[in-house]
Amino acid sequence: MSILNILRYPDPRLHKVAKPVSIFDDRIKQLAADMADTMYDAPGVGLAASQVDVHEQLVVIDTSETNTELQVFINPEIIWASEEKKVYDEGCLSVPGIYDGVERPAEVKVRAFDVDGKPFELHADGLLAVCIQHEMDHLKGKVFVEYLSPLKRNRIKTKMIKEEREEQRSKAKGR
Ligand code: ZN
Repeated sequence: MSILNILRYPDPRLHKVAKPVSIFDDRIKQLAADMADTMYDAPGVGLAASQVDVHEQLVVIDTSETNTELQVFINPEIIWASEEKKVYDEGCLSVPGIYDGVERPAEVKVRAFDVDGKPFELHADGLLAVCIQHEMDHLKGKVFVEYLSPLKRNRIKTKMIKEEREEQRSKAKGR
């Protein structure tokens, strides 16, 4: 079990665009397993490889309350999105403690590959639809705070930088 380090907004590495996975080998399986461990440990309902500084198109999601429904999406593509939109209060492991409303299509159909390189399609609604779209944004280098107003975004940026600094300081003191 490996817990990976999660990049925190406004780390510029969160804005790198992820490349498609072309070889489905043990390295990809290990990455997916480590990302799942990291997500459950945080705890969160989704994690994109971009957030652990691996810029390849891999996402892990588990929206179940029992942490027993791990889903891995490799090279995911949205092939259909509903006209109906919904606003959901989103949060992000890279922006701890911040939750705000983002409007997205209420339902999506996704095409992706599993860890063995087998293609599959999935129709998602509710939290799963939100989560898939949120994580796929990470692969494009986009963090959910970019949907918010510049004023809110700047406030969040300042807060994150301040918290990171305070954490570094208390770590240095060995507390
Ligand atoms: Zn996120």
